[in-house]
Amino acid sequence: MMNTEQCMNKTEQYVLHTYNRFKIALEKGKGVYLYDAEGKKYLDFAAGIAVFALGYGNEAYNQALKDQIDRVIHTSNLYYNLPLAEAAKKVVKESGMDKVFFTNSGTEAIEGAIKTARKYAWLKDHKTDHEIIAMKHSFHGRSLGALSVTGNTHYQEPFKPLIGGIKFADFNDLESVKSQITDRTCAIILETVQGEGGIYPADPEFLKGVRALCDEHDILLILDEIQCGMGRTGWMFAWQDYGVQPDIMTCAKALGCGIPVGAFVLNKKTAENSLVPGDHGTTYGGNPLACAAVSKVFDIFEEQKIIEHVRETAPYLEEKLDELVDKYDSVAARRGKGLMQGLVITGKPVGEVINKAIENGLLVISAGSDVLRLVPPLVIEKEHVDEMISILEKCL
Ligand SMILES: *Cc1c(COP(=O)(O)O)cnc(C)c1O
Repeated sequence: MMNTEQCMNKTEQYVLHTYNRFKIALEKGKGVYLYDAEGKKYLDFAAGIAVFALGYGNEAYNQALKDQIDRVIHTSNLYYNLPLAEAAKKVVKESGMDKVFFTNSGTEAIEGAIKTARKYAWLKDHKTDHEIIAMKHSFHGRSLGALSVTGNTHYQEPFKPLIGGIKFADFNDLESVKSQITDRTCAIILETVQGEGGIYPADPEFLKGVRALCDEHDILLILDEIQCGMGRTGWMFAWQDYGVQPDIMTCAKALGCGIPVGAFVLNKKTAENSLVPGDHGTTYGGNPLACAAVSKVFDIFEEQKIIEHVRETAPYLEEKLDELVDKYDSVAARRGKGLMQGLVITGKPVGEVINKAIENGLLVISAGSDVLRLVPPLVIEKEHVDEMISILEKCL
């Protein structure tokens, strides 16, 4: 077995250097803890970037995957497969939407959402100059379409030209969105809670206002729930707390809880007036192993009452984080929803706090330039919150 040093050296020798990784090599996980190659234990408040909602080593989940591996892993979309039918039904039922298309990642879910919106508009006027309004400081992924709607010039600049017809508005500023609407606008895309940009929940009035604008102009509302969806905010999908519904929703991250899978989900109007056979496809998307994971994740959410658990734990986390805001000058504010929380760090680089936390056995990550992001597995207990707070206090 490799130690951390050997693992780091080998990785840097052979893996394309696109990440500045923290200098630990994680080997295994149990519950809400991860262990490195030397056996050092870490309390995990990162969950593989809001992915591992159920904690590590969930027996029901692991067993479902093992069983599916023994049955069949992949068959392609040329044929029907049983886990796909099951998983699709659960996504549709939980969202109250109409149809789902499974992808392999979040960024591909965004690609599908963009293509769907363009096709919907094209069917109305057969023109090819439709526009999409996206938000500044948004994050939707790294493929060229998703990057085009990601409001971060640093990520975009070296890869131009991106796809055309994208305009940017200010998040939580309805007038700004309104001013970007033209008769060419086919969709407005936003994260219900901005994640990478710094943990900014949409204001209820803003989201309702955007929905009303979309209704008025027959524009499709795309809500990106890739990070904030799947129970993280105390709702299966964050928009369910706002009394608005998207026309298109994107999911990924916790959807498969570690198996790479995403989805774009359409309401009836959109599903019936957009993609048809020949318009879109994927070799892996919706494969039996990925869908067995999705299906089991929804079962476990129900059996283990995950959403109720988030609603119980999140207020405690918020209370404890608010105490840090009161107590430390370096913690300027808390923002978030449910178990998706951010602390604004001032007077020192957020990276410094994160590195100290890792040294002290706590995994946390950043968002934006100055936000400490807390996105733990959804199964954390109050005692884990206490443990996290006591480690974090050593780092502030
Ligand atoms: C992570 C993320 C994506 C991209 O998902 P990938 O699986 O990394 O491609 C898109 N949107 C949001 C909101 C995300 O958090």
